[in-house]
Amino acid sequence: MKPRAVLLDLDGTLVDHDGAAAAGLRGWLPALGLVATDEAIARWAAVQEPHLAAWRDGRITFAEQRRRRLRDYLGADGADAELDELFAGYVTHYESAWRAFDDAAGALAALAAAGVATAVLTNGTRGQQLRKLSRTGLADRAGPVFTVDDLGAAKPHAAAFHRACERWGHPPAAVLSVGDNHALDVLGARAAGLSAVHLDRYGRGPADEPHRIASLRDLPPLLGAARLT
Ligand SMILES: [Mg+2]
Repeated sequence: MKPRAVLLDLDGTLVDHDGAAAAGLRGWLPALGLVATDEAIARWAAVQEPHLAAWRDGRITFAEQRRRRLRDYLGADGADAELDELFAGYVTHYESAWRAFDDAAGALAALAAAGVATAVLTNGTRGQQLRKLSRTGLADRAGPVFTVDDLGAAKPHAAAFHRACERWGHPPAAVLSVGDNHALDVLGARAAGLSAVHLDRYGRGPADEPHRIASLRDLPPLLGAARLT
């Protein structure tokens, strides 16, 4: 079955999450008396993954994964309320740096013009992801938004894909998953019966992935839609 519906990831796919996180750290770390070196920014991304994985698997809450990230990152402990307040400082800077990738709006418009339905499936929280889409100008273009809060499951678990497809009204076999995270958006989607394309913006691979695009501009032609710039 040729996909007539595209399920898009949000962070790293439509919106430049890494760029916003780096800008957020450059704003936030100096307020803590720390220097926002490239290494300090890379370490932020490195410490988060085990805690995000624990949250995706339902072992800890979203708030708790933030606290654990801070404990690891700063080497400091504190009461939950103190850590939550500290993290809120980072979030303020992070949110002010949200930007859509410059290929996102055009790709969504091209797909819509070709009659291809789009929706968003994200491992982020509902409130923050809706604000993100709104502030980056994509809310009216992206289609329905499915989050872990709504579905009770996170990517790469098949339940996240199945529940999103069911609520959206498209069978998994008719849906193409597109995202920047190969394990979550591509392998997870295929295991759930969807087809999938890896958005590999920075050429990081895996190189043996046969269905790979470097830009969302390359997505509409895959679905028989005109390529808009
Ligand atoms: Mg992503």
